[in-house]
Amino acid sequence: MIRPHFRVVIVNLTTRKTHVENVPGREVWLGGSGLGALLFEKYGDTSAAWTDPKQPLIFAIGPLTGYFPLMSKTVCSFLSPYHGQYTESHAGGRSALALRFADMDALVITGKASRPCVLSVGAKHMDIKDAPFLWGKDVFTTGKMVRNMLPGSGMRSILRIGPAGETGCAYACINVDTYRHFGRMGAGAVMGAKNLKAIAIQGDSSFSLPEGKEYAKVFKEIYEQLTETTMMSKYHDLGTAGNVAALNELKSLPWRNLQATTDPGIDGISGERFAKDMLLRNTACAGCPVGCIHIGYLREKFMADNRYLYRQVAYDYEPIFSLGSMLGMTDGFGVLGLMDAVEREGLDCMSGGVALAWATEALEKGHITEAETLTPLKFGDAAGYKTAIHHLGVGTNEFYKRLAQGTMKAALHYRGEDYACVLGQEMAGYATGESFFVSESLSFRHSHLDSSAYSADQKPQDKDAPKIVAGFVKDEASRIVLTSMVGCLFARGVYSTERLQQALSSLGYAETDLDAAGGAIQRLRWRLRMRSGYAPMQTKIPKRYSEVVTWKGAIDTEFMETLRQTYAAKLIELGQEEKEQA
Ligand code: SF4
Repeated sequence: MIRPHFRVVIVNLTTRKTHVENVPGREVWLGGSGLGALLFEKYGDTSAAWTDPKQPLIFAIGPLTGYFPLMSKTVCSFLSPYHGQYTESHAGGRSALALRFADMDALVITGKASRPCVLSVGAKHMDIKDAPFLWGKDVFTTGKMVRNMLPGSGMRSILRIGPAGETGCAYACINVDTYRHFGRMGAGAVMGAKNLKAIAIQGDSSFSLPEGKEYAKVFKEIYEQLTETTMMSKYHDLGTAGNVAALNELKSLPWRNLQATTDPGIDGISGERFAKDMLLRNTACAGCPVGCIHIGYLREKFMADNRYLYRQVAYDYEPIFSLGSMLGMTDGFGVLGLMDAVEREGLDCMSGGVALAWATEALEKGHITEAETLTPLKFGDAAGYKTAIHHLGVGTNEFYKRLAQGTMKAALHYRGEDYACVLGQEMAGYATGESFFVSESLSFRHSHLDSSAYSADQKPQDKDAPKIVAGFVKDEASRIVLTSMVGCLFARGVYSTERLQQALSSLGYAETDLDAAGGAIQRLRWRLRMRSGYAPMQTKIPKRYSEVVTWKGAIDTEFMETLRQTYAAKLIELGQEEKEQA
C-alpha cells in the first residue's frame, strides 16, 4: 500500500517498549538517506556523545524497495564512533526486503539494554531476548546461535556484531546476513554501546504489487536494461575485482601502505586470478538479478579425520586492495584468509587492512615495536596479519585499543602521521590523484562512492578547482536521490532521474521534483554533520599523498591544497543553517 507518510517503528531498548509513528514528508525526504537524516534530526542529539543511550540507530529503506530490482539497500544513519559526527552506512543482503515485508519504512532503535540482547522485530511483534551468552562470540557463531534462537523462515534478515562492535572499535561493522555489511564509520560499535548483539528483522507480512499496465511496463523496461544490456554485466562477470589489475596498470593501486602504486606481483591477486583459481559461485542481494557478489573458497585446515574444512568467503575490489596489495600480499588464498578473519571479528575490512598497513610501516621505522604489535608484522606475511586482526577485534592491549579508534589517532600517539593513509577515514583503494584524495578527505561519508572523483582522476582533466568542486556537489546530490530510493549505486546508469520518476509514478506517487529533493537532503545531511562538529577547513591530507606517483606523474600539491580549500568552503556553505541562508 502506498502511504503518504513514512511508517516508522521505534524500539526503545531501555524501556523495552515499541511504538509506531507516521512521519510526514515523503515528497521531500523520499526515504533512505533523506529519511535517515529526517529521523536523526527528530530523535538524535548532535550535542551529545555517540555513546549516549538516547542516540538513535536508524535503518531506512526507500519507496521503490520491493517493487523494482536493485532497490536492495538499507541506509543506516547514526552518530559515528569514528569522529562523533553524523554519518551513514549502506548495506544490502536481505535487510531492505525484510523491512518492506515487515511493513516498515524505517526502524529506529534508541536506549540501551541493561544486558546484552537480541532484538526480534517484525510487522506483528517486537521481542527483546536477553543474550549475555552471545557476548564475546564471533560473527559466525553469533549468526548460527541467533538462527537457532529464532527459528523461522521467509524474508528474514539477521544483523549482528562481532567482538569489534563490543569493544567499541571505531570501525566495527554490522554484518548483514551472509557477505554484506554496514561496513564503514563504526555502526557496529553503536550496536555494542546499546548492548545489542543482534537484530532479526522478520518480514512476516506481505504487500501487493500495483495492478494495471503502467507498473508492469516500467518494471519490464528496467529489468531488461539490467539483464539484457552490457550495463551491468561487468559486475556479474569479473565483478569489481576486475579493477585490481586495471588500477595497478594505471599506477593507482595502493601497495604496502601506499609506498608504491604498482607492483609486478599483481598477477597473484588480480580479479582474473581470483576468477580462475578461487571463484566458487556468484550470489546476490535479495531482489537483484545481477549477482555481483563473488564467493571464493578457502581451504582452511586439515582436520584430524583427514578432511579439509572449506570456507566460503566473499571478495571484491575493496577487500582485495585493503587486505591484499595494501598489506603487500601477492597470494590470493592468503588474502581470502584475511578477509575471513576480518569478517569473524566484525571489523570493516578497509579500515582494518589500512590500519595494519600503517602498523607494519611503523614497526619497520621503529615508531612501534613488537611489544605493541605482539606479533611480527611484515608486508606479505598472512600469518602475522591474521593474529593482529584478532588482537584488533578484541582490543588485546593499549596499542590495539588505540589503533581500533582510528589509524590517525594511533599515529598521533606513536608518531607516524605522515604515512597514515587516512582520508577522513582509512582510505579506499584509489591512489588516483588529487581529486580523489580531496574528495574522500572531505566528503560526507568519506567514501569512494560519494562522488566519481576516482574515475575523473583516471582521465585528463583541467586543474580548475571551482569547476571540479561544482562537479563533486552535483554528483553528490544526484547520488543522494538514488541512495534515498534506496538503490544499489552500481545501477546508477540505469536509474536516471527520469527513470526513477517513472517508477514512482507507476506505484501511484505524485510527481516529485527529485533534483530539488536531492538538494534538500544534501543540505540537511551537511547541517547535521556540521552541527555534530565537522570543520572541513581543518581537514589535513597526510604527507604520504603528496609522495604518490600515478600515471599522470607526481602529485601537484599546490593544486591539491587549492582544491581542498575550495571544497571545504563549499561544504561550509552547504551546511549553513536554513535561516542563515535566507
Ligand atoms: S549489484 Fe551486487 S551489491 Fe548491487 S544489489 Fe546486486 S548483488 Fe547487491
